Amino acid sequence: MITFKQVSKQYKNGTKALNNVDLTIEQGEFVVIVGLSGAGKSTLLRTINRLHDVTEGTVEIDGVAITEARGKKLYTLRRDVGMIFQQFNIVKRSSVLKNVLAGRVGYHSTLRMILGLFPKEDKGIAFEALRRVNLLDKAYVRADQLSGGQQQRVSIARALAQEPKIFLADEPVASLDPLTTKQVMDDLQRINRDLGITMVVNLHSMEIARRYATRIIGLKAGEVVFDGPIEEATPKRFMGIYGESLEDEDQKQNSDHEQKEAVQ
Ligand code: ADP
Repeated sequence: MITFKQVSKQYKNGTKALNNVDLTIEQGEFVVIVGLSGAGKSTLLRTINRLHDVTEGTVEIDGVAITEARGKKLYTLRRDVGMIFQQFNIVKRSSVLKNVLAGRVGYHSTLRMILGLFPKEDKGIAFEALRRVNLLDKAYVRADQLSGGQQQRVSIARALAQEPKIFLADEPVASLDPLTTKQVMDDLQRINRDLGITMVVNLHSMEIARRYATRIIGLKAGEVVFDGPIEEATPKRFMGIYGESLEDEDQKQNSDHEQKEAVQ
């Protein structure tokens, strides 16, 4: 359902972020993409909804090339792909409900959205999305009143309200503590299992990857260097591929994060 055909991506400054990537991801898979910092994970994810253009090759969603789509076709394809980010990207001064309703904008005219005229059914969809992430009671609370984990779950609800076929998550738990990490990853797992939405999630933690993924894809210098089920993604195998433990990378990034938090 998501197909990469010989995809390469070179940034304007000459950095080659993806090199000849061939991949097929089936509907309903829970794919985790791992690799060291700079491996190309974020770039790969962003070529799926065309936040980034590719330099060579094609990315198809259900057989339709998003890499070549224009205008209305691109707009409709993007609607099928929900995305969540490390920093949540929610509007902090708006209510939780308004943030979730923003997931519906792809279904209506621009004018209607400027006027904030969401049809009644959209409210129903937004409430149902909030129920799935256990935040129904927060619908009318301002988003900045919520904890980081709750804000991330608002962004999950917003992506859900889009009624997508695919969820992209770029380091969704990198800013969260272990307990909230579990809640957010459990939400993604439940959405994947209950609704059959395909998950493509970038993580730097092998431990979390092994716990949630049905398939792990390892990237190194823009190339796929591992693609298989979790049973094969052993620490020894990854040590062989990367020459260092990705678990160390996890600890390194966590301690970077803790240091930054301490400074703030
Ligand atoms: P990861 O998500 O695995 O950390 P990225 O996809 O962010 O990797 O980056 C892959 C490579 O592309 C890195 O060398 C990075 O520095 C480079 N890169 C990422 N974004 C840009 C950009 N906008 N312009 C130039 N180089 C970039």
